[in-house]
Amino acid sequence: MSIHLILQEAFGYGAFRGPQQAIIEHVVGGGDALVLMPTGGGKSLCYQIPAIAREQAGQGITVVISPLIALMHDQVGALHEAGVNAEFLNSTLSAEEASQIEKRLLRGDITLLYCAPERVTTPRFLAQLDSLYERGKLSLFAIDEAHCVSQWGHDFRPEYRALTVLHERYASVPRIALTATADTLTRADIVTHLQLQDARLFLSSFDRPNISYTIVEKREATQQLLRFIASEHMGDAGIVYCQSRKRVEDMANLLCDEGIAALPYHAGLDVKIRRANQDQFLRNEGIVMVATVAFGMGIDKPDVRFVAHLDMPKNIEGYYQETGRAGRDGAPADAWMCYGLQDVVNQRRMIDESPAGEEFKQGLRGKLDALLGLAEATDCRRVRLLHYFGEESQPCGNCDNCLHPPAVWDGTEAARKLLSTIYRVQQMSGISFGTGHIMDILRGKTTEKVTQRGHETLSTFGIGSEFSEQQLRGVLRQLIAIGAVTVDAQAFNTLQLTDASRAVLKGEVPVQLRVSVLTPAERKTRRSSASSGTTVKAPVALNAESEARYLALKAWRAEVAKEHNLPAYVIFHDATLVMLAERAPQTLDDLQGITGIGAKKLEAYGQDVLRVVAN
Ligand code: ADP
Ligand code: ZN
Repeated sequence: MSIHLILQEAFGYGAFRGPQQAIIEHVVGGGDALVLMPTGGGKSLCYQIPAIAREQAGQGITVVISPLIALMHDQVGALHEAGVNAEFLNSTLSAEEASQIEKRLLRGDITLLYCAPERVTTPRFLAQLDSLYERGKLSLFAIDEAHCVSQWGHDFRPEYRALTVLHERYASVPRIALTATADTLTRADIVTHLQLQDARLFLSSFDRPNISYTIVEKREATQQLLRFIASEHMGDAGIVYCQSRKRVEDMANLLCDEGIAALPYHAGLDVKIRRANQDQFLRNEGIVMVATVAFGMGIDKPDVRFVAHLDMPKNIEGYYQETGRAGRDGAPADAWMCYGLQDVVNQRRMIDESPAGEEFKQGLRGKLDALLGLAEATDCRRVRLLHYFGEESQPCGNCDNCLHPPAVWDGTEAARKLLSTIYRVQQMSGISFGTGHIMDILRGKTTEKVTQRGHETLSTFGIGSEFSEQQLRGVLRQLIAIGAVTVDAQAFNTLQLTDASRAVLKGEVPVQLRVSVLTPAERKTRRSSASSGTTVKAPVALNAESEARYLALKAWRAEVAKEHNLPAYVIFHDATLVMLAERAPQTLDDLQGITGIGAKKLEAYGQDVLRVVAN
């Protein structure tokens, strides 16, 4: 079968997306490939279609290596729905089930086999692969989430390093490695550690045009988050990322108190609870997952409408990967982050205190700085994000800075005053001080600490009184972001000057800051727009009849999903239901060409769908 036919028959899609066709043709032809594509770009088809095509050509089975045991059941379930002969082998199977699958594996009676890297490199599994290889029945290796091989990635898995055995042992079997992490360090690591020097590189655009980026200054984070959800996302599925486990728990409770269906997820929770919460998030509608970064890799839920960061991530790769989990279905979605001075200080401290070598820490600091630059930016966020991944673009018109260009003020003078104060205090007392004390001196406050130290006699005492504390904090954040001030975690978070301070002091580096104002939306009282409540609505405006059909189809889908123990979107995406509701098909023929209905689904659900639509 041609790859176009497979796309249509198995998956019900009429056309390839972006570079999918080129990648698939290359791999079907036996070439190695390294695929860098953003989350939601459509990586799975890039190995699933070659697996089907090569199996049909008698070349045997494809082994898919994925770090995510908890998701294999649904991944394989989705393939079964599409009529593809797929299985997984992992520790969730009983001994009996596993042995059945091993038998089928050895017979070559499986098209795609999913397993974790630990299993692939066991002697037992390698012996089974040897046997297939000798008989010419080992078709392809797909290495998903390939960034796990890199210590620069955020999900380093040492087991991935052992995957070199695949190339060494089965030299003639093509390999395709896929990831959504595209920075050059990680990419180089993948090539080296997976020995993909000769693989063809497929680098997609990393733009996610349907995601709108917003970064706000942190004031009372909790209230800001509540306002954001209440005003724009009541009843939507979303993810809220927090730094610590405790904060995850507190925030999940708080959202529940506010009538938002929220669940916690972090590595400290019992495995059973984690699994149950993940299942609920995937299977039910409108759940908000409050989580640490432990959550999200491989989550392919298409209708996540927002991703919020209550604390700043470590770097742009992390931020982009996490925010990328919103809007996989291509419909509008929000990436919202609030960040403040304390985030900057915390992240710096974590790097300073980590046991890593100095060179490595320097790398981490550089990555953090790039993220700070993004957060402080007064121009298009998307232009900056894409630039970070090596792509040039024009202002997007769909981020906070494009939609509401921020007023900026020249903070150069304030920055110089702040730096001089840090300098004078240090000179006078022989030691450094923290943010609060420096602010007090600048603003001319005679606190006890100030008079005790005689700091009211400094020439810089009160020279910043025309600025609000908020403004000065903004200036300080920016100075830390450009490296002109460091926060010494070893010495009570005291502020220190650096080599880069001099240029700012001399007025050679302009310091541009956004004017902090409460936007009207932020002033809106809580719950004000929550009245739309959690009623299920179609993602696009439908007329009354179509809307009724949409809701009926949705109810039917929920039943089928429950019966099959799979998430609803595995049966049909929302987009498919919308098309069905709008077109109101009456015959099986009418169902042809509706996106997401392949041959197997047509056969399995066609009559049911017609019946639901007719009623
Ligand atoms: P990734 O793994 O790159 O994050 P997926 O493989 O999960 O992305 O694909 C994202 C979504 O896009 C899925 O719901 C998938 O069914 C859909 N998709 C992929 N390729 C196509 C295509 N050619 N046409 C329509 N939808 C597609
Ligand atoms: Zn923009």
